[in-house]
Amino acid sequence: LRPQDIDVESDSRLGAGAGGVVQKGVIRTTGQPVAIKVIKVDDKPKRDQLINEIRGLVQAQGCPYLVQWYAGFANNTNLQVNVALEFMDLGSLADLKKRMANAGMSGAPSNHVAAISAQVTLGLSHLHSKHILHRDIKLENILHNREGRVKLTDFGIAKDLDATLAVAGTFVGTVTYMSPERCLGEDYTFISDIWSVGMVIYEISTGNYPFKDISSFPALFEHLCEKPEPRLDPGVYPTAQCEYVALSLVRDVSQRWDAERLLSHPFVSGFTAADEQALAQFFATL
Ligand code: ATP
Ligand code: MG
Repeated sequence: LRPQDIDVESDSRLGAGAGGVVQKGVIRTTGQPVAIKVIKVDDKPKRDQLINEIRGLVQAQGCPYLVQWYAGFANNTNLQVNVALEFMDLGSLADLKKRMANAGMSGAPSNHVAAISAQVTLGLSHLHSKHILHRDIKLENILHNREGRVKLTDFGIAKDLDATLAVAGTFVGTVTYMSPERCLGEDYTFISDIWSVGMVIYEISTGNYPFKDISSFPALFEHLCEKPEPRLDPGVYPTAQCEYVALSLVRDVSQRWDAERLLSHPFVSGFTAADEQALAQFFATL
């Protein structure tokens, strides 16, 4: 795939993050839709490093629960990298959360949360088995499509994200999926990704970010590192769903389950194609 093989549609912005914008494009010869993500970099060595990482990721794939990275192109005239990605027609789980809120729902029904959790955990388990850390699991980096498929994206790219919680300025709207150990500056390990999965599942279950009412960095820090971990209300949610969150959101890393082990949990272990079809139908109602 070369840059000239892709037509970027004008006015087709799919979203924007800290690093740049994502637009819709199409492969000229086949008509296949793609997402084009622009990542800005500080200098040429960083650009070349990123291109190398992307080339590695392009090869390391072939999992149905990971967004396919087709190619990365460096632009010689400016400091940016363009990545061609598999296009996911319903956007991210942040979009799903908004659509559920607009439909007056506080969270997705349990069977659908289970189907989402299963796919997220399958994708992560595949990454971990290839010794790739995700590092940035959050609603925006989990995409979904009309087939009821859920996939992780933006994994394995070296980013200076560790400063996110410490940035100066206003707190308004600050949301972190960062694990307590990472927040404390300790090593980031495979199990750190699991904390973020627990946060995401909690949020899709309830329609709310677990620490949504917290209004300052010290308070957020205290909740992450000292207060009891977020738990689903067992009076409202099925036991298996509460357990899945409780096994992921464990501050003690030696007690937190890894992706492989979570896949054996009854909340997700029975996941089938029929659950995916039911999820597709649910997406279609929103
Ligand atoms: P960050 O700056 O931390 O990366 P982000 O994940 O929100 O934040 P982007 O990765 O640039 O930023 O993505 C922005 C948005 O673009 C996503 O939230 C999603 O809605 C949309 N998007 C990204 N990739 C795709 C894709 N492959 N298919 C469809 N939509 C996508
Ligand atoms: Mg992203």
